[in-house]
Amino acid sequence: MLLGYNGEVVDASSQLENSLCELIGRESVLTGEAVRRVYSSDAYTVEKYPPVAVVLPRTTEEVASVVRWCTDNQVPFTPRGAGTGLSGGAMPALGGVVISTKKLNQILDHSFADEWLLTQSGIANLKISQFTQPFGYHFAPDPSSQSVSTIGGNIAMNSGGPHTLKYGVTAQHVLGVRMVLASGEIVTIGGPCGGDEDLISLIVGSEGTLGLVTEAWVRLTPNPEEIGTATLCFSTVEAASQCVGTMVRSGVMPAALEMMDHFVLSAVRASFDLEYIEGTAAMLLVETDGVAGQAIADLEILLQIGRDHGAIEIKVAANSAERLKLWTARKKGVGALGRLAPTVVTHDGVIPPSRLPEMLDAVYAIATEEGLGVANIFHAGDGNLHPIFYFDERAEGAIEAVVRAGEKIVEKCLEFGGSVTGEHGIGVEKVDLLTRMFDAESLEVHSCMRLVFEAGAECNPCKVIPNSKGCIEHKMRWRGVAT
Ligand SMILES: Cc1cc2nc3c(=O)[nH]c(=O)nc-3n(C[C@H](O)[C@H](O)[C@H](O)COP(=O)(O)OP(=O)(O)OC[C@H]3O[C@@H](n4cnc5c(N)ncnc54)[C@H](O)[C@@H]3O)c2cc1C
Repeated sequence: MLLGYNGEVVDASSQLENSLCELIGRESVLTGEAVRRVYSSDAYTVEKYPPVAVVLPRTTEEVASVVRWCTDNQVPFTPRGAGTGLSGGAMPALGGVVISTKKLNQILDHSFADEWLLTQSGIANLKISQFTQPFGYHFAPDPSSQSVSTIGGNIAMNSGGPHTLKYGVTAQHVLGVRMVLASGEIVTIGGPCGGDEDLISLIVGSEGTLGLVTEAWVRLTPNPEEIGTATLCFSTVEAASQCVGTMVRSGVMPAALEMMDHFVLSAVRASFDLEYIEGTAAMLLVETDGVAGQAIADLEILLQIGRDHGAIEIKVAANSAERLKLWTARKKGVGALGRLAPTVVTHDGVIPPSRLPEMLDAVYAIATEEGLGVANIFHAGDGNLHPIFYFDERAEGAIEAVVRAGEKIVEKCLEFGGSVTGEHGIGVEKVDLLTRMFDAESLEVHSCMRLVFEAGAECNPCKVIPNSKGCIEHKMRWRGVAT
């Protein structure tokens, strides 16, 4: 049985499967219990709901035929890239069809002379830089999930990353998109030379609620001539957080300024055979880049600030192999936390960098209040906080505790003059919390965007806008009632 967005029966699942097979071929349609389980959530595993079927189209036209069919038959559909989203955006909230971009993974065209590349949207972020690096270019947005997360997902979430501090978020690096609207119409907005920036800025960050991006022109950034990378260990979290503030105000712009606390470092140490000096409570990773000579000079200024703040150990990368080693804790830290507990939930909020010491105190206090473990690994330089709660979701009350802890963190971020999300988006996780930041009129304007793009209730329902039609009744079913 398949439920439509009002909860009514709209099709038998076998009929639905047959219809999809007729549209794009049996080899591109996945069904069955294992598929339903795997695709019932993204990396925000607190809320789950299974799809009836998953489709793997290979072309924009195939996407359009599925989307048109879903809309015509009132079947909910949910775009999905790699499923690394951390707010439930790719969770098929009302069932229906998950449209995976897994097979839309080809680079289609590029011009190094004009610094752009055209790609299908299902390609992994890192694949672009791997292709362009030998020619002196890279794709600057580098979410820590970049080895798997897709360009389509990055666009939908307006993803950031460690180098956002200097180079900006995904929005600054998208020149154009080809996308399928909920009607099934294929539109091209912008292109290799940009244009339509206003429309592009609506699509980037819309979390798959305005249609499905199938191709994108992205900006290529010249590789820096020189990179300086170092880690600095501190004996207190407070000293590390105060050092971040001084570095940000120093006039030297780091390319990246990341922080990891000792909970992350202990998991990383056990997983990757890395050593940090005894007594380390927090570590900063600092990177500078630019023309030859300048990056190393800038790094030395930042390291002196670290010494002034009492850094107990400083390691500077002497070559690119050592640079990669220093980055290991940051790039693999979240995965390593799997050693500490069966479930991890990564939260995301923004605070002014000057409030970091107080905010981290609050995070540890909230975790203690709720009986949860917490580790912090985040983009400290731009005030983008990521407390990661670790716990056993099978324990009674654990899910409720982690949801409450998330709400308390959002409240604190807002109290300190920050924001409900820095880069992980609203999805279903924060859909009710948006009302704490925006009034009803502002949210009404946001919801009008769906009308402008003619995105009906079938298009990624229950995401971003609070109290969408048919979603309130389903909300409790997403938590632990997955199948
Ligand atoms: C270990 C780890 C580290 C992370 N680090 C970062 C980080 O540093 N910075 C950061 O910003 N995020 C980070 N994330 C979050 C996540 O990786 C990003 O949000 C990423 O952009 C999601 O890409 P995806 O392909 O996995 O998208 P999915 O999770 O599959 O989907 C995310 C959203 O985009 C929509 N969507 C997907 N593809 C399309 C498309 N083609 N067209 C329209 N809508 C689409 C989906 O419907 C959903 O709403 C991290 C996640 C993990 C697990």
